[in-house]
Amino acid sequence: MEKWPIAKSTLAILEQCGEHSDEKIKLFCEDHSQLCCHICEALHHRSCSKVNLIEEINKYSTADAHQLSSNIQKIQDELKKLKEIAEGNLLSLETTYQRIKKEIDTVR
Ligand SMILES: [Zn+2]
Ligand SMILES: [Zn+2]
Repeated sequence: MEKWPIAKSTLAILEQCGEHSDEKIKLFCEDHSQLCCHICEALHHRSCSKVNLIEEINKYSTADAHQLSSNIQKIQDELKKLKEIAEGNLLSLETTYQRIKKEIDTVR
């Protein structure tokens, strides 16, 4: 059976910045309630007062940070859901692909 070529790269895209495919989403801008990458930060969030590293935020334990991290949690949950949907789609795509391939092989 041939390997399905696109599964891995497609899933990786979901962790990438939508605008900058070379960058991973690493930051959270509190002013925009938006996840972004380092380039986004430099381009769009220069004047924002609170742009934090996601990893850093998860370490905080104050009430503010708790609120913030639960927002991020929500966004990450959404991302996770998207990922699961994508995985499901890929799985059915793969099944379809293999079925069609089999059919073609049978016809030959
Ligand atoms: Zn970006
Ligand atoms: Zn911003």
